[in-house]
Amino acid sequence: MASWDSFYRANGLRPIINVSGTMTMLGASIGVPDARNATAEIMPYFVPIHDLQAKASAVISRLTGAEAGFVTASASAGVTLSVAATMTGLDPAKVEQLPDTMGMKDEVVIQAGHMCHYGAPVEQALRLTGALVVPVGQATQAVDHQLAGAITERTAAAVYVVSHHVVEYGQIPLRAFARICHEHGVPVIVDAASEYDLSGFREAGADLVVHSGHKFLGGPTSGIVSGSRDLVRAAYLQNAGIGRGMKVGKESIFGAMAALEAWERRDHDAIRAREREALDLWLTAVDGFAGVEARIVPDHTYNPLDRLRIWIDRERLGVSPMAVVAALRDGEPSIIARDLEAELGWFQLDPCNLHEGQMEIVAERLRAALHAAQKGELTEPDPDALRNGGIAGYLNWGLG
Ligand SMILES: *Cc1c(COP(=O)(O)O)cnc(C)c1O
Repeated sequence: MASWDSFYRANGLRPIINVSGTMTMLGASIGVPDARNATAEIMPYFVPIHDLQAKASAVISRLTGAEAGFVTASASAGVTLSVAATMTGLDPAKVEQLPDTMGMKDEVVIQAGHMCHYGAPVEQALRLTGALVVPVGQATQAVDHQLAGAITERTAAAVYVVSHHVVEYGQIPLRAFARICHEHGVPVIVDAASEYDLSGFREAGADLVVHSGHKFLGGPTSGIVSGSRDLVRAAYLQNAGIGRGMKVGKESIFGAMAALEAWERRDHDAIRAREREALDLWLTAVDGFAGVEARIVPDHTYNPLDRLRIWIDRERLGVSPMAVVAALRDGEPSIIARDLEAELGWFQLDPCNLHEGQMEIVAERLRAALHAAQKGELTEPDPDALRNGGIAGYLNWGLG
């Protein structure tokens, strides 16, 4: 049995193959060896945290091109601390005063189409500072005058989200968004949690950029804040305030540094080729089923990453995409597919988190599920239960 499998048996956990992407609820990503070693290496030692974070800043600067950076508990924490930075500046009394915003700028503008849910609402990460969220435009459209009109003398920051979770069209491009904000003296914070591009958002006008350490980077649970020196310093200062409850430890700081350095050295072409091999295998696996079509599609947000999109014609195959996804999920091992857009008639397979031997298991199970569908053996999941499944997982936890 493959080694990825023995871990689950030893610990009494259900074996999972993740073809859904980097999902917090599945443990984010496969930690890269350098990051795993770094977290273990530092555990026995005391380190002055400011010194360690200064070393992290140097690594972050080298990879992002920004003046400075630091590691925080998560990208979500990074966004909150970044917003707080724009409210308090380098005044420690204000840092301790939050989330009471008396005497500070206390509004944050964000396009309505960017107010997504990544496991929690993005606007809550802004409101945690005590700030008021001011939406710009409507869900599927925002234009320049609406952004300019939303900015007042109370505006502390503007937040821009780059993600497959946000509306993909009708939004103001980052360059124009940043230009308008800067004309009004408002700093721009980009939530780029899942984005492989470490330098482009700063180049497009962001003052602070937040990446996740445990997604594409394969680091420990962490967030990476980078940007102009004084704003990064003000964000770091929040660790003496609202950031205390979002504390990052030495192992995550050191692990995130190692993940960044491993990213710099990684053979990205070889990884891409390996991912392509999985996609080609799965493409072959779904071939020949009436009512099933598949195509390799690029990532929405231009990450150098392709996925297999599998369209299911409910009339011809006899089941919805969700029934196929459920069959994969409910088998042994549990295979988690990417079903964010299943209502549109497809699901996807993401190849970026595979252990040795898993792509073949996925191919076999996919064929088995489609055969079962043809024979009328798959059951249709309850759509209401699916829609509400995210919060139900929390509500049902701890019931015994
Ligand atoms: C994943 C994600 C987050 C949260 O990242 P964490 O590091 O897990 O806190 C925030 N914003 C977006 C757009 C994300 O995709």
